[in-house]
Amino acid sequence: MDIHLVSSIGSAEFTHLARSLSKSTIIGLDAEWKPVRSQRSAFPTVTLLQLACQLGDDSAGWDESVVFLLDLVSLPLPLIWELIRDVFVSPDILKLGFKFKQDLIYLSSTFRAQGCDLGFDKVEPYIDITHIYKLLQHKEGNKVSKNTKSLSAICEEILGLRLSKELQCSDWSQRPITEEQIRYAATDAHCLLGIFKTIQAKVIKEGHSCNNVEDQHQSDISLGLKNILEMPDSENKLVRTKFCNAVDIVHATASSEECERIAKGVEVIRKTKPMDESLWKIVRKYGEKLILQESDRTPKTSRKKGRRRPSVVCKEKQLDNYGDWQGPPPWDVSMGGDGRPKFLCDVMVEGLAKHLRCVGIDAAIPHSKKPEPRDLIDQANKEKRVLLTRDAKLLRHQYLIKNQIYRVNSLLKNEQLLEVIEVFQLKISEDQLMSRCTKCNGRFIQKPLTTEEAIEAAKGFQRIPSCLFDKNLEFWQCKDCNQLYWEGTQYHNAVQKFIDVCKLKE
Ligand SMILES: [Zn+2]
Repeated sequence: MDIHLVSSIGSAEFTHLARSLSKSTIIGLDAEWKPVRSQRSAFPTVTLLQLACQLGDDSAGWDESVVFLLDLVSLPLPLIWELIRDVFVSPDILKLGFKFKQDLIYLSSTFRAQGCDLGFDKVEPYIDITHIYKLLQHKEGNKVSKNTKSLSAICEEILGLRLSKELQCSDWSQRPITEEQIRYAATDAHCLLGIFKTIQAKVIKEGHSCNNVEDQHQSDISLGLKNILEMPDSENKLVRTKFCNAVDIVHATASSEECERIAKGVEVIRKTKPMDESLWKIVRKYGEKLILQESDRTPKTSRKKGRRRPSVVCKEKQLDNYGDWQGPPPWDVSMGGDGRPKFLCDVMVEGLAKHLRCVGIDAAIPHSKKPEPRDLIDQANKEKRVLLTRDAKLLRHQYLIKNQIYRVNSLLKNEQLLEVIEVFQLKISEDQLMSRCTKCNGRFIQKPLTTEEAIEAAKGFQRIPSCLFDKNLEFWQCKDCNQLYWEGTQYHNAVQKFIDVCKLKE
């Protein structure tokens, strides 16, 4: 990966950036920000904007790319606003993102705070990797889960690459930015190009692309100069060509301020080359636009009263309400762990164990029904788990396992789940929901079973209601206890419940 950190306008990196932008056909976008503390009186400040530029034609392959990390802490934002705005609205550059709207909201607010009153209100043409991924899954007849896959899941499936998420919550406002952060930030934007390339190749190969795009817009040929100037952002190629001609006319004939403004506004755009035919077809078919409304400009402060916000996104801990947790947990990378949270739930919080499993977190229960404190501590130690308990007496043994015991304060299961998510900064995503056996904490088999296979597998130990037989459902079996699960009404209700509990839709 060719990565450049751009921290000042006069630098060689900045020149490189400007030149690369004018040669880019596709740009992967991502942003990092510093989380805000508790109440949402302000949006987070974006401290890094990543632009992964695909240079030149599609034939070049995705290695012909360069990633720029714009250090928004040190760059003068008013001086780079126009450049970025032009990229966002250039009809010749396809922008790729992964749920980029939130980043755009924060980015716009960050720029407005620095005197760029207009902020950013649009990204077009834009393709969200999750949308195109889902559409293609659907086209190929695959069952499309309602749940959105995480970027790392899509990346692993399509590119076979594992994205590390450890640094997601690191301090993105700290300078100098570390080598690891640079690589992490660049990879997140760069992998969008790779994923898109693969999807694009698939679309072209399978002839999914629309063949009659040009025909649909024959009427545009008759557009006059005035209409064209009024719609400079048009993504239609024919209009674009006309527009460029129109700008030439403006350049050649006019000198009024208004015309200069128009001409200047398209300077960057004009240097870029129109997309080639195959990319253009994909953009026509799958492209969308991100538009920020007036309501996106202010943080939403009114919330249902008394509800606590969970930390499903990165944010600073709200430890005040909870018992003290010093950390780091044994799974922390700094402790030589693999970053995957593992808990042991004491008998008093067994319900919490089930809830944690429902959101995909590894949560074991004690080996025996009435474990001695020693047994619990031994098990937590051996399996490198954090012991969750409501038993204050157990805390007396805290010296034995310093960072492996936490006393849960909340009484109700849903509240306990939120508390653990918040205190341990767990990241829960929709595709993790129901990914574990609630009965035994085991994982599921790789592939779903058909109804016939499930009936066979269930023989003599689990009854499958016969009303399910002709519904063509998928059955999943736990690798450990063989329990069968299916995606029936109960399943969907449960998914919905945990989306609500963890407020994953926010
Ligand atoms: Zn099981």
